[in-house]
Amino acid sequence: MFYEFYIQTKQRYELVDITEKVEKVVKESDIKEGWVLVFVSHSTAAIVLTENEEGLKKDWLNFLKTTVAGFDFQHNRIDDNADSHILSGLIGQGRILPVKDGQMVRGTWQNIFLIELDGPRSRRVVVEIK
Ligand code: ZN
Repeated sequence: MFYEFYIQTKQRYELVDITEKVEKVVKESDIKEGWVLVFVSHSTAAIVLTENEEGLKKDWLNFLKTTVAGFDFQHNRIDDNADSHILSGLIGQGRILPVKDGQMVRGTWQNIFLIELDGPRSRRVVVEIK
């Protein structure tokens, strides 16, 4: 089953916890066993599983900014967001989680985050459950 929702981001780089939104979709789907794909249909955003802790969220953003700092990106001559495309590709634009007994299987510290890398923008998140 195909679902989608939109997230309005506020910063250029930002982590947004979308776990509750995805869990709601899984519950409403009535699918008991299978898997759920969480996918962002953009090449300057990403999806990751990580802990929702304020320090760690800042660590993610600092780490990502530092990783792409100091490069003379050619894409920036036409569109000033090469850093966003590269981080999006490296982190990945989707994740798959198992579904068992009508619920996503995930660890205590595995919340689902949309990572905004070129905001603020409206981001389309696709959830496919089979
Ligand atoms: Zn671009």
